[in-house]
Amino acid sequence: MRSVNPATGEELANYEDHDGDDVDAALGAATNAFESWADRNVEERCDLLDDAADVLREKTETYAELMTEEMGKPIDQARSEVEKCAWVCEYYAEHAPEQLQTERMASDAGERAEVRYEPLGPVLAVMPWNFPFWQVFRFAAPNLAAGNVGLLKHASNVPGCALAIEEVFEEAGFPEDAFQSLLIGSDLVEDVIRDDRVVAATLTGSERAGRSVGETAGNELKKTVLELGGSDPFVVLDDADVQQAAETGAWARVQNSGQSCIAAKRFIVHADVYDEFVDAFVDEMDDFEVGDPKDADTDVGPQAREDLLEDMHEQVRQSVEDGATVQTGGEPLDWDGPYYPPTVLTDVPRDSRAATEEVFGPAAAVFRARDEDHAVEIANDTKYGLGANLWTEDRERADRLADELRAGSVFVNSYVGSDPRLPFGGIKASGYGRELSEHGIREFVNRKTVHVE
Ligand code: NAP
Repeated sequence: MRSVNPATGEELANYEDHDGDDVDAALGAATNAFESWADRNVEERCDLLDDAADVLREKTETYAELMTEEMGKPIDQARSEVEKCAWVCEYYAEHAPEQLQTERMASDAGERAEVRYEPLGPVLAVMPWNFPFWQVFRFAAPNLAAGNVGLLKHASNVPGCALAIEEVFEEAGFPEDAFQSLLIGSDLVEDVIRDDRVVAATLTGSERAGRSVGETAGNELKKTVLELGGSDPFVVLDDADVQQAAETGAWARVQNSGQSCIAAKRFIVHADVYDEFVDAFVDEMDDFEVGDPKDADTDVGPQAREDLLEDMHEQVRQSVEDGATVQTGGEPLDWDGPYYPPTVLTDVPRDSRAATEEVFGPAAAVFRARDEDHAVEIANDTKYGLGANLWTEDRERADRLADELRAGSVFVNSYVGSDPRLPFGGIKASGYGRELSEHGIREFVNRKTVHVE
Protein backbone atom coordinates (compact mmCIF):
# COMPACT_ATOMS: atom_id res chain seq x y z
CA MET A 1 0.00 0.00 0.00
CA ARG A 2 1.51 3.30 -1.14
CA SER A 3 1.08 6.54 0.63
CA VAL A 4 1.46 9.46 -1.80
CA ASN A 5 1.31 13.18 -1.04
CA PRO A 6 -1.30 14.54 -3.48
CA ALA A 7 0.15 18.06 -3.31
CA THR A 8 3.60 17.00 -4.47
CA GLY A 9 3.17 13.55 -5.99
CA GLU A 10 5.96 12.36 -3.69
CA GLU A 11 5.77 8.82 -2.28
CA LEU A 12 5.70 9.11 1.51
CA ALA A 13 5.91 5.43 2.39
CA ASN A 14 5.30 1.98 1.04
CA TYR A 15 3.64 -0.54 3.34
CA GLU A 16 3.49 -4.28 2.94
CA ASP A 17 -0.14 -5.39 2.54
CA HIS A 18 -1.47 -7.89 5.05
CA ASP A 19 -2.03 -11.30 3.49
CA GLY A 20 -4.55 -14.00 4.36
CA ASP A 21 -2.37 -15.38 7.19
CA ASP A 22 -1.98 -11.91 8.73
CA VAL A 23 -5.73 -11.38 8.61
CA ASP A 24 -6.37 -14.79 10.13
CA ALA A 25 -3.98 -13.98 12.98
CA ALA A 26 -5.60 -10.58 13.52
CA LEU A 27 -9.09 -12.08 13.72
CA GLY A 28 -7.86 -14.67 16.22
CA ALA A 29 -6.23 -11.97 18.30
CA ALA A 30 -9.39 -9.84 18.16
CA THR A 31 -11.47 -12.76 19.41
CA ASN A 32 -9.10 -13.29 22.35
CA ALA A 33 -8.95 -9.59 23.12
CA PHE A 34 -12.74 -9.39 23.15
CA GLU A 35 -13.03 -11.99 25.93
CA SER A 36 -11.17 -9.87 28.46
CA TRP A 37 -12.17 -6.46 27.13
CA ALA A 38 -15.90 -7.22 27.40
CA ASP A 39 -15.34 -8.42 30.97
CA ARG A 40 -13.92 -5.12 32.16
CA ASN A 41 -16.40 -2.74 33.63
CA VAL A 42 -17.49 0.15 31.48
CA GLU A 43 -15.85 2.79 33.70
CA GLU A 44 -12.46 1.14 33.21
CA ARG A 45 -12.95 1.11 29.44
CA CYS A 46 -13.98 4.74 29.52
CA ASP A 47 -10.90 5.79 31.52
CA LEU A 48 -8.80 4.51 28.65
CA LEU A 49 -10.83 6.58 26.20
CA ASP A 50 -9.95 9.65 28.25
CA ASP A 51 -6.32 8.62 27.90
CA ALA A 52 -6.76 8.28 24.14
CA ALA A 53 -8.02 11.88 24.07
CA ASP A 54 -4.82 12.94 25.87
CA VAL A 55 -2.63 11.10 23.37
CA LEU A 56 -4.46 12.77 20.49
CA ARG A 57 -4.01 16.23 21.99
CA GLU A 58 -0.35 15.67 22.83
CA LYS A 59 0.36 14.63 19.25
CA THR A 60 -2.02 16.95 17.42
CA GLU A 61 0.68 18.33 15.19
CA THR A 62 2.02 14.90 14.20
CA TYR A 63 -1.39 13.51 13.31
CA ALA A 64 -2.53 16.70 11.57
CA GLU A 65 0.60 16.73 9.40
CA LEU A 66 0.10 13.07 8.58
CA MET A 67 -3.43 13.72 7.29
CA THR A 68 -2.27 16.75 5.33
CA GLU A 69 0.53 14.79 3.72
CA GLU A 70 -1.50 11.67 2.93
CA MET A 71 -4.70 13.19 1.59
CA GLY A 72 -4.11 16.94 1.23
CA LYS A 73 -6.36 18.28 4.00
CA PRO A 74 -5.53 21.94 4.81
CA ILE A 75 -3.50 21.87 7.99
CA ASP A 76 -5.82 23.99 10.13
CA GLN A 77 -8.74 21.70 9.28
CA ALA A 78 -6.54 18.70 10.09
CA ARG A 79 -5.77 20.12 13.55
CA SER A 80 -9.49 20.64 14.14
CA GLU A 81 -10.12 17.05 13.12
CA VAL A 82 -7.67 15.74 15.73
CA GLU A 83 -9.35 17.90 18.38
CA LYS A 84 -12.77 16.58 17.36
CA CYS A 85 -11.49 13.01 17.77
CA ALA A 86 -10.36 13.88 21.30
CA TRP A 87 -13.82 15.32 21.93
CA VAL A 88 -15.63 12.16 20.82
CA CYS A 89 -13.38 10.06 23.08
CA GLU A 90 -14.16 12.33 26.02
CA TYR A 91 -17.85 12.46 25.17
CA TYR A 92 -18.18 8.68 25.35
CA ALA A 93 -15.84 8.43 28.34
CA GLU A 94 -18.30 10.66 30.18
CA HIS A 95 -21.63 9.41 28.84
CA ALA A 96 -21.21 5.74 27.87
CA PRO A 97 -21.73 4.40 31.43
CA GLU A 98 -25.15 6.06 31.55
CA GLN A 99 -26.02 5.19 27.93
CA LEU A 100 -25.25 1.52 28.57
CA GLN A 101 -26.91 1.30 31.94
CA THR A 102 -29.49 -1.44 32.34
CA GLU A 103 -32.95 0.00 31.73
CA ARG A 104 -35.98 -1.02 33.80
CA MET A 105 -39.07 -1.71 31.70
CA ALA A 106 -42.76 -1.89 32.60
CA SER A 107 -43.83 -5.23 34.05
CA ASP A 108 -46.59 -6.78 36.15
CA ALA A 109 -46.49 -6.74 39.94
CA GLY A 110 -43.96 -9.19 41.37
CA GLU A 111 -41.96 -9.27 38.15
CA ARG A 112 -38.87 -7.47 36.94
CA ALA A 113 -38.17 -6.68 33.32
CA GLU A 114 -35.11 -4.90 32.02
CA VAL A 115 -32.94 -4.32 28.97
CA ARG A 116 -29.20 -4.83 29.23
CA TYR A 117 -26.75 -3.55 26.64
CA GLU A 118 -24.11 -6.20 26.03
CA PRO A 119 -21.17 -6.09 23.60
CA LEU A 120 -21.21 -8.31 20.53
CA GLY A 121 -17.57 -9.00 19.62
CA PRO A 122 -15.12 -7.94 16.90
CA VAL A 123 -16.69 -5.38 14.55
CA LEU A 124 -15.20 -4.57 11.13
CA ALA A 125 -15.07 -0.88 10.17
CA VAL A 126 -14.44 -0.05 6.50
CA MET A 127 -13.54 3.61 6.35
CA PRO A 128 -12.90 6.38 3.77
CA TRP A 129 -9.94 8.73 3.35
CA ASN A 130 -11.74 12.06 3.51
CA PHE A 131 -11.81 12.48 7.29
CA PRO A 132 -9.20 9.79 7.95
CA PHE A 133 -9.15 10.22 11.73
CA TRP A 134 -12.65 11.44 12.53
CA GLN A 135 -14.56 8.71 10.66
CA VAL A 136 -12.59 6.06 12.52
CA PHE A 137 -12.87 7.63 15.97
CA ARG A 138 -16.61 8.11 15.73
CA PHE A 139 -16.83 4.35 15.21
CA ALA A 140 -14.10 3.34 17.64
CA ALA A 141 -14.95 5.46 20.70
CA PRO A 142 -18.52 4.20 21.25
CA ASN A 143 -17.70 0.64 20.27
CA LEU A 144 -14.68 0.30 22.52
CA ALA A 145 -16.70 1.86 25.36
CA ALA A 146 -19.47 -0.65 24.73
CA GLY A 147 -17.01 -3.54 25.03
CA ASN A 148 -16.62 -4.46 21.37
CA VAL A 149 -13.22 -4.66 19.74
CA GLY A 150 -12.41 -2.95 16.44
CA LEU A 151 -10.92 -4.10 13.15
CA LEU A 152 -10.19 -1.23 10.79
CA LYS A 153 -9.95 -1.60 7.04
CA HIS A 154 -9.04 1.94 6.08
CA ALA A 155 -8.98 3.41 2.57
CA SER A 156 -5.92 2.27 0.60
CA ASN A 157 -4.52 5.82 0.20
CA VAL A 158 -4.24 6.48 3.97
CA PRO A 159 -2.34 3.51 5.45
CA GLY A 160 -0.20 5.87 7.56
CA CYS A 161 -3.33 7.23 9.26
CA ALA A 162 -4.61 3.67 9.81
CA LEU A 163 -1.41 2.71 11.64
CA ALA A 164 -1.27 5.98 13.57
CA ILE A 165 -4.79 5.41 14.92
CA GLU A 166 -3.80 1.93 16.08
CA GLU A 167 -0.87 3.60 17.84
CA VAL A 168 -3.17 6.10 19.63
CA PHE A 169 -5.01 3.25 21.33
CA GLU A 170 -1.79 1.38 22.13
CA GLU A 171 -0.24 4.48 23.69
CA ALA A 172 -3.39 5.15 25.68
CA GLY A 173 -2.98 1.72 27.27
CA PHE A 174 -5.75 -0.24 25.57
CA PRO A 175 -5.09 -3.96 25.60
CA GLU A 176 -3.15 -5.24 22.64
CA ASP A 177 -5.50 -6.19 19.79
CA ALA A 178 -8.55 -4.29 21.11
CA PHE A 179 -8.16 -2.15 18.00
CA GLN A 180 -6.25 -3.40 14.94
CA SER A 181 -5.70 -2.03 11.46
CA LEU A 182 -5.84 -4.48 8.58
CA LEU A 183 -3.80 -3.22 5.64
CA ILE A 184 -5.91 -4.95 3.00
CA GLY A 185 -7.53 -3.97 -0.27
CA SER A 186 -11.29 -3.93 -0.69
CA ASP A 187 -11.14 -7.33 -2.45
CA LEU A 188 -10.51 -9.01 0.93
CA VAL A 189 -13.39 -7.33 2.76
CA GLU A 190 -15.91 -9.99 1.77
CA ASP A 191 -13.79 -12.77 3.32
CA VAL A 192 -13.43 -10.82 6.56
CA ILE A 193 -17.19 -10.21 6.81
CA ARG A 194 -17.90 -13.88 6.13
CA ASP A 195 -15.49 -15.02 8.84
CA ASP A 196 -17.39 -16.35 11.87
CA ARG A 197 -15.17 -14.40 14.24
CA VAL A 198 -16.46 -11.07 12.89
CA VAL A 199 -19.90 -10.26 14.27
CA ALA A 200 -20.90 -7.06 12.46
CA ALA A 201 -19.65 -4.45 10.00
CA THR A 202 -19.92 -0.76 9.37
CA LEU A 203 -18.88 1.10 6.24
CA THR A 204 -18.49 4.79 5.60
CA GLY A 205 -17.96 5.37 1.93
CA SER A 206 -19.61 5.31 -1.45
CA GLU A 207 -22.97 3.84 -2.32
CA ARG A 208 -21.28 1.17 -4.42
CA ALA A 209 -19.09 -0.01 -1.55
CA GLY A 210 -22.07 0.17 0.82
CA ARG A 211 -24.16 -2.09 -1.38
CA SER A 212 -21.35 -4.61 -1.54
CA VAL A 213 -20.75 -4.73 2.23
CA GLY A 214 -24.50 -4.70 2.95
CA GLU A 215 -25.07 -7.59 0.56
CA THR A 216 -22.35 -9.80 2.04
CA ALA A 217 -23.26 -9.02 5.63
CA GLY A 218 -26.96 -9.51 4.88
CA ASN A 219 -26.18 -12.89 3.45
CA GLU A 220 -24.31 -13.77 6.66
CA LEU A 221 -27.09 -12.28 8.84
CA LYS A 222 -24.66 -9.81 10.35
CA LYS A 223 -25.76 -6.36 11.31
CA THR A 224 -24.45 -3.36 9.37
CA VAL A 225 -24.45 0.40 9.68
CA LEU A 226 -23.88 2.17 6.37
CA GLU A 227 -22.86 5.84 6.14
CA LEU A 228 -22.83 6.58 2.43
CA GLY A 229 -22.77 9.49 0.06
CA GLY A 230 -24.97 12.55 -0.05
CA SER A 231 -26.09 15.44 -2.23
CA ASP A 232 -27.29 17.72 0.53
CA PRO A 233 -29.64 20.55 -0.41
CA PHE A 234 -29.02 24.07 0.91
CA VAL A 235 -32.40 25.80 0.70
CA VAL A 236 -32.50 29.60 0.89
CA LEU A 237 -36.01 31.00 1.28
CA ASP A 238 -37.23 34.53 0.55
CA ASP A 239 -37.07 35.60 4.22
CA ALA A 240 -33.51 34.32 4.80
CA ASP A 241 -30.52 36.39 5.84
CA VAL A 242 -29.12 36.11 2.32
CA GLN A 243 -25.62 37.44 2.97
CA GLN A 244 -25.12 35.10 5.89
CA ALA A 245 -26.56 32.19 3.90
CA ALA A 246 -24.11 32.89 1.07
CA GLU A 247 -21.15 33.06 3.43
CA THR A 248 -22.08 29.92 5.37
CA GLY A 249 -23.16 28.08 2.21
CA ALA A 250 -19.86 28.72 0.47
CA TRP A 251 -17.94 27.26 3.39
CA ALA A 252 -20.41 24.35 3.61
CA ARG A 253 -19.51 23.54 0.00
CA VAL A 254 -15.72 23.84 0.14
CA GLN A 255 -14.95 22.47 3.62
CA ASN A 256 -12.40 19.66 3.38
CA SER A 257 -11.70 20.88 -0.18
CA GLY A 258 -15.26 19.92 -1.10
CA GLN A 259 -14.76 16.27 -0.19
CA SER A 260 -17.35 15.80 2.53
CA CYS A 261 -20.43 13.60 2.51
CA ILE A 262 -22.41 16.34 4.29
CA ALA A 263 -21.07 19.23 2.24
CA ALA A 264 -23.88 21.38 0.84
CA LYS A 265 -23.97 20.39 -2.83
CA ARG A 266 -27.24 21.66 -4.31
CA PHE A 267 -28.17 25.29 -3.55
CA ILE A 268 -31.90 25.85 -4.00
CA VAL A 269 -32.78 29.51 -3.86
CA HIS A 270 -36.16 31.26 -3.79
CA ALA A 271 -36.65 33.39 -6.93
CA ASP A 272 -37.15 36.58 -4.89
CA VAL A 273 -33.61 36.42 -3.47
CA TYR A 274 -31.93 34.40 -6.22
CA ASP A 275 -29.86 37.16 -7.86
CA GLU A 276 -28.75 38.61 -4.55
CA PHE A 277 -27.72 35.15 -3.31
CA VAL A 278 -25.84 34.15 -6.47
CA ASP A 279 -23.85 37.41 -6.51
CA ALA A 280 -22.88 37.07 -2.85
CA PHE A 281 -22.21 33.33 -3.14
CA VAL A 282 -19.88 33.73 -6.14
CA ASP A 283 -17.99 36.48 -4.27
CA GLU A 284 -17.56 34.20 -1.28
CA MET A 285 -16.39 31.28 -3.41
CA ASP A 286 -13.89 33.54 -5.20
CA ASP A 287 -12.49 34.73 -1.87
CA PHE A 288 -11.23 31.32 -0.76
CA GLU A 289 -7.51 30.76 -0.72
CA VAL A 290 -6.61 27.71 -2.82
CA GLY A 291 -3.12 26.37 -2.35
CA ASP A 292 -0.55 24.47 -0.35
CA PRO A 293 -2.37 22.46 2.34
CA LYS A 294 0.55 23.00 4.73
CA ASP A 295 -0.01 26.74 4.65
CA ALA A 296 -2.28 27.83 7.53
CA ASP A 297 -3.96 30.43 5.28
CA THR A 298 -5.15 27.82 2.78
CA ASP A 299 -8.90 27.18 2.68
CA VAL A 300 -8.97 24.71 -0.21
CA GLY A 301 -6.15 22.24 -0.78
CA PRO A 302 -5.60 19.70 -3.54
CA GLN A 303 -8.12 16.96 -4.20
CA ALA A 304 -7.01 13.74 -2.52
CA ARG A 305 -6.09 11.97 -5.76
CA GLU A 306 -5.71 12.89 -9.42
CA ASP A 307 -8.35 10.34 -10.53
CA LEU A 308 -10.88 11.82 -8.09
CA LEU A 309 -10.36 15.28 -9.58
CA GLU A 310 -10.79 13.88 -13.08
CA ASP A 311 -14.09 12.17 -12.14
CA MET A 312 -15.41 15.32 -10.52
CA HIS A 313 -14.39 17.55 -13.40
CA GLU A 314 -16.15 15.20 -15.81
CA GLN A 315 -19.37 15.71 -13.81
CA VAL A 316 -18.94 19.49 -14.12
CA ARG A 317 -18.02 19.33 -17.80
CA GLN A 318 -21.00 17.15 -18.73
CA SER A 319 -23.38 19.32 -16.73
CA VAL A 320 -22.14 22.37 -18.63
CA GLU A 321 -22.56 20.50 -21.90
CA ASP A 322 -26.14 19.80 -20.83
CA GLY A 323 -26.86 23.49 -20.25
CA ALA A 324 -25.37 24.63 -16.92
CA THR A 325 -23.63 28.02 -16.80
CA VAL A 326 -20.23 28.42 -15.13
CA GLN A 327 -20.30 31.50 -12.87
CA THR A 328 -16.79 30.93 -11.57
CA GLY A 329 -14.16 28.16 -11.71
CA GLY A 330 -15.09 25.17 -13.83
CA GLU A 331 -11.62 24.04 -14.97
CA PRO A 332 -8.79 22.34 -13.04
CA LEU A 333 -6.02 24.77 -12.12
CA ASP A 334 -2.95 24.51 -14.30
CA TRP A 335 -0.71 23.71 -11.35
CA ASP A 336 1.33 20.72 -10.26
CA GLY A 337 -1.06 18.55 -8.25
CA PRO A 338 -4.83 17.98 -8.47
CA TYR A 339 -6.08 21.48 -7.62
CA TYR A 340 -9.64 22.52 -8.48
CA PRO A 341 -11.00 26.01 -7.87
CA PRO A 342 -14.24 26.75 -6.02
CA THR A 343 -16.82 26.52 -8.79
CA VAL A 344 -20.40 27.74 -9.13
CA LEU A 345 -22.81 26.38 -11.74
CA THR A 346 -26.21 27.98 -12.34
CA ASP A 347 -29.06 27.02 -14.72
CA VAL A 348 -28.23 23.44 -13.80
CA PRO A 349 -30.58 21.01 -15.63
CA ARG A 350 -32.44 18.82 -13.17
CA ASP A 351 -31.34 15.67 -15.02
CA SER A 352 -27.67 16.65 -15.33
CA ARG A 353 -24.93 14.92 -13.37
CA ALA A 354 -24.39 17.89 -11.02
CA ALA A 355 -28.06 17.60 -10.03
CA THR A 356 -28.46 13.84 -9.78
CA GLU A 357 -25.05 12.61 -8.56
CA GLU A 358 -22.86 13.36 -5.59
CA VAL A 359 -20.21 15.93 -6.60
CA PHE A 360 -17.25 15.23 -4.33
CA GLY A 361 -15.22 18.40 -4.80
CA PRO A 362 -15.61 22.19 -4.50
CA ALA A 363 -18.29 22.64 -7.22
CA ALA A 364 -21.76 23.94 -6.31
CA ALA A 365 -24.94 23.55 -8.34
CA VAL A 366 -27.48 26.37 -7.94
CA PHE A 367 -31.20 26.02 -8.71
CA ARG A 368 -33.92 28.68 -8.82
CA ALA A 369 -37.14 27.79 -6.95
CA ARG A 370 -40.46 29.50 -7.76
CA ASP A 371 -41.70 29.24 -4.18
CA GLU A 372 -41.38 27.25 -0.99
CA ASP A 373 -43.12 24.12 -2.31
CA HIS A 374 -40.96 24.12 -5.41
CA ALA A 375 -37.82 24.46 -3.23
CA VAL A 376 -38.81 21.44 -1.15
CA GLU A 377 -39.62 19.47 -4.28
CA ILE A 378 -36.15 20.14 -5.76
CA ALA A 379 -34.49 19.42 -2.40
CA ASN A 380 -36.17 16.01 -2.17
CA ASP A 381 -35.57 15.15 -5.81
CA THR A 382 -32.47 13.05 -5.14
CA LYS A 383 -31.72 9.44 -4.43
CA TYR A 384 -29.73 10.58 -1.40
CA GLY A 385 -30.99 11.58 2.05
CA LEU A 386 -28.06 12.45 4.29
CA GLY A 387 -28.44 16.04 5.52
CA ALA A 388 -30.35 19.18 4.54
CA ASN A 389 -29.72 22.87 5.21
CA LEU A 390 -32.60 25.32 5.47
CA TRP A 391 -32.42 29.12 5.67
CA THR A 392 -35.40 31.18 6.85
CA GLU A 393 -35.94 33.75 9.58
CA ASP A 394 -39.34 32.26 10.42
CA ARG A 395 -39.07 29.55 13.12
CA GLU A 396 -42.58 28.21 12.54
CA ARG A 397 -41.84 27.86 8.82
CA ALA A 398 -38.55 26.15 9.62
CA ASP A 399 -40.22 23.59 11.88
CA ARG A 400 -42.90 22.84 9.33
CA LEU A 401 -40.42 22.43 6.45
CA ALA A 402 -38.01 20.36 8.55
CA ASP A 403 -40.77 17.73 8.53
CA GLU A 404 -40.97 17.84 4.74
CA LEU A 405 -37.27 17.51 3.95
CA ARG A 406 -36.42 13.84 3.48
CA ALA A 407 -33.00 13.53 5.10
CA GLY A 408 -31.31 12.11 8.18
CA SER A 409 -30.85 15.60 9.58
CA VAL A 410 -31.99 19.17 8.95
CA PHE A 411 -29.92 22.13 10.09
CA VAL A 412 -31.67 25.50 10.12
CA ASN A 413 -29.67 28.72 9.58
CA SER A 414 -26.36 26.89 9.80
CA TYR A 415 -24.82 23.99 7.94
CA VAL A 416 -24.96 20.25 8.50
CA GLY A 417 -22.24 19.04 10.80
CA SER A 418 -21.45 16.01 12.91
CA ASP A 419 -21.36 16.35 16.68
CA PRO A 420 -20.75 13.57 19.24
CA ARG A 421 -23.97 14.61 21.05
CA LEU A 422 -26.23 14.23 17.99
CA PRO A 423 -27.21 11.14 16.01
CA PHE A 424 -25.67 11.11 12.53
CA GLY A 425 -26.76 9.11 9.51
CA GLY A 426 -28.92 9.01 6.44
CA ILE A 427 -31.88 7.52 4.66
CA LYS A 428 -32.39 6.27 1.08
CA ALA A 429 -29.09 5.77 -0.82
CA SER A 430 -27.21 7.60 1.97
CA GLY A 431 -27.42 4.45 4.05
CA TYR A 432 -28.97 3.43 7.33
CA GLY A 433 -28.24 3.24 11.02
CA ARG A 434 -26.86 6.01 13.17
CA GLU A 435 -23.50 6.93 14.63
CA LEU A 436 -22.77 9.18 17.61
CA SER A 437 -24.85 10.02 20.71
CA GLU A 438 -26.73 7.27 22.57
CA HIS A 439 -28.17 6.14 19.22
CA GLY A 440 -24.72 5.29 17.86
CA ILE A 441 -23.48 3.37 20.87
CA ARG A 442 -26.53 1.10 20.76
CA GLU A 443 -26.09 -0.03 17.15
CA PHE A 444 -23.64 -2.86 17.85
CA VAL A 445 -24.85 -4.20 21.18
CA ASN A 446 -27.19 -6.97 22.18
CA ARG A 447 -30.21 -5.19 23.66
CA LYS A 448 -30.96 -8.13 25.89
CA THR A 449 -34.38 -8.39 27.50
CA VAL A 450 -34.30 -10.08 30.90
CA HIS A 451 -37.64 -10.94 32.50
CA VAL A 452 -37.77 -12.34 36.03
CA GLU A 453 -40.94 -13.66 37.65
P1 NAP B 1 -15.14 4.30 -1.32
O1 NAP B 1 -14.44 4.16 -2.59
O2 NAP B 1 -16.46 3.66 -1.18
O3 NAP B 1 -14.14 3.76 -0.20
C1 NAP B 1 -14.51 3.72 1.15
C2 NAP B 1 -13.93 2.49 1.80
O4 NAP B 1 -14.59 1.34 1.24
C3 NAP B 1 -12.45 2.29 1.52
O5 NAP B 1 -11.85 1.70 2.65
C4 NAP B 1 -12.45 1.35 0.33
O6 NAP B 1 -11.27 0.58 0.25
C5 NAP B 1 -13.63 0.47 0.67
N1 NAP B 1 -14.27 -0.16 -0.47
C6 NAP B 1 -14.37 0.31 -1.72
N2 NAP B 1 -15.07 -0.56 -2.50
C7 NAP B 1 -15.42 -1.60 -1.70
C8 NAP B 1 -16.12 -2.81 -1.91
N3 NAP B 1 -16.65 -3.12 -3.09
N4 NAP B 1 -16.27 -3.64 -0.87
C9 NAP B 1 -15.76 -3.34 0.33
N5 NAP B 1 -15.07 -2.22 0.59
C10 NAP B 1 -14.90 -1.33 -0.41
O7 NAP B 1 -15.35 5.82 -0.94
P2 NAP B 1 -14.27 6.96 -0.88
O8 NAP B 1 -14.04 7.46 -2.25
O9 NAP B 1 -13.09 6.54 -0.09
O10 NAP B 1 -15.04 8.06 -0.02
C11 NAP B 1 -15.95 8.93 -0.57
C12 NAP B 1 -17.37 8.48 -0.37
O11 NAP B 1 -17.61 8.29 1.03
C13 NAP B 1 -18.34 9.54 -0.76
O12 NAP B 1 -19.42 8.97 -1.41
C14 NAP B 1 -18.77 10.15 0.56
O13 NAP B 1 -19.99 10.82 0.52
C15 NAP B 1 -18.80 8.96 1.43
N6 NAP B 1 -18.74 9.37 2.84
C16 NAP B 1 -19.86 9.20 3.61
C17 NAP B 1 -19.86 9.64 4.91
C18 NAP B 1 -21.06 9.49 5.80
O14 NAP B 1 -20.91 9.62 7.00
N7 NAP B 1 -22.24 9.26 5.27
C19 NAP B 1 -18.71 10.20 5.44
C20 NAP B 1 -17.59 10.35 4.63
C21 NAP B 1 -17.62 9.90 3.32
P3 NAP B 1 -10.14 0.95 -0.84
O15 NAP B 1 -9.65 2.31 -0.53
O16 NAP B 1 -9.12 -0.11 -0.61
O17 NAP B 1 -10.80 0.87 -2.18
